[in-house]
Amino acid sequence: RESLVESIKETIKEKNVELLHVQFVDIEGTLKHVTVTAEQIDQVVEGRVMFDGSSIAGFTPINQSDLYLDPDLTTFAVLPWTEQEGYSEARFICSVKKPDGSDFAGDPRNVLKKTVKRAADQGYSISVGPELEFFLFETDDYGQPTLRTQDVGGYFETSPKDFGEKVRLEIYKALKMMGFTIEASHHEVAIGQHEINFKYSDALGAADAATTYKWVVKTVAQQFGYFATFMPKPLAGENGSGMHVNISLFDTEKQENAFYDESDELALSEKAYQFIAGLMDNVKDFVAVTNPLINSYKRLVPGYEAPCYIAWSASNRSALIRIPASRGAGTRVEIRCPDPSANPYFAYAIIAAAGLDGVERELTPVPSVNADIFHMTKDELDSRGIENLPTSLEAAVNRFEAGEIGLKTLGEHSFGEYVALKRAECDAYRLAVTDWEVKRYQSKF
Ligand code: GLN
Ligand code: MG
Ligand code: MG
Ligand code: MG
Repeated sequence: RESLVESIKETIKEKNVELLHVQFVDIEGTLKHVTVTAEQIDQVVEGRVMFDGSSIAGFTPINQSDLYLDPDLTTFAVLPWTEQEGYSEARFICSVKKPDGSDFAGDPRNVLKKTVKRAADQGYSISVGPELEFFLFETDDYGQPTLRTQDVGGYFETSPKDFGEKVRLEIYKALKMMGFTIEASHHEVAIGQHEINFKYSDALGAADAATTYKWVVKTVAQQFGYFATFMPKPLAGENGSGMHVNISLFDTEKQENAFYDESDELALSEKAYQFIAGLMDNVKDFVAVTNPLINSYKRLVPGYEAPCYIAWSASNRSALIRIPASRGAGTRVEIRCPDPSANPYFAYAIIAAAGLDGVERELTPVPSVNADIFHMTKDELDSRGIENLPTSLEAAVNRFEAGEIGLKTLGEHSFGEYVALKRAECDAYRLAVTDWEVKRYQSKF
């Protein structure tokens, strides 16, 4: 730790870091920060930066509002877009502590750490590789996002139809300078839609990376006059944006991927099958976390490469759970329902918890489905026992509140706050009269 602090101080000097952004996330996974001068580096690394928890969604009541920011030193990064001659800014991502020094239970990072510990107690570390898709839209004269895009590109499009190529290149450069290993970058299926992939890491590192990625994508897009959105389904009739989560367990004693078994027909281990079964068994109870918005459920409809049925497959992109082809150290399951509006800390915690539940209970998954599920009739779906994911936020929140996995994974504080927040979201929607209703009903009735 001492040497890490020293090397951070050296970087601060070398890069002329003047300001430090001390960051954390709220209950929705939204990045927050307070900015201090670099002279206060000792206060920062010692966890002495304080803030008002009562002003953060899902945190504390006003009469117990003081909270402290405990930086994760491995998240220190200079912000490439701030660098000028003799000046730059840097950041830390922090966990949140109470004044007595204990972990604050409303901090999503602390929630994820508990699931990481649960896996560690069983001899596993959790590897997560998320894929976050986003749209680039033009801004209006006030810098506000529109739904306009000149971009007419599709999957893997090249210039000149791909209007986002330059933006993706700058995002790539910024992320790389912040320590990301970028694996791919491409235009996605929908007009104006893009994806940049970074290397998997441990669950906490992946959630920090997803949070940083969203921030960098939005910041760089703004410099080009675009607005980047991770809203799940901005355009009806086009693909939405997913956050596929690739996940596996790493056996820390044997030092190998616990999902690989070359003797199996699909080269998957018993643990892998149990993990899949745990995901399938719990998914209805956790989509309120992985798909947190009213709008999330407009993405989970047939025909747009987003899942709506609970099935798994070794290849099928219409299935909820796909097993990508790579084996050996790269053996993993890909769960395709999450979208990038989810809080990554809660999402990776609850997905891992669902899989671990399957391992602990030694569940066996139903047979995989290799046919195209989107084109099955109701009878075919029924005869194979393929069920629907919840089709609305309200249905999802009902399941989440009644189920066990939410409370067990998020803990009492975060669970209660999250349910209240999502209930409020459902109520707000119920009160709204949408354009769709007016168009459809006003002249007809
Ligand atoms: N955009 C699709 C989704 O909503 C995924 C498309 C893809 O990555 N092949 O999940
Ligand atoms: Mg992808
Ligand atoms: Mg994609
Ligand atoms: Mg994918």
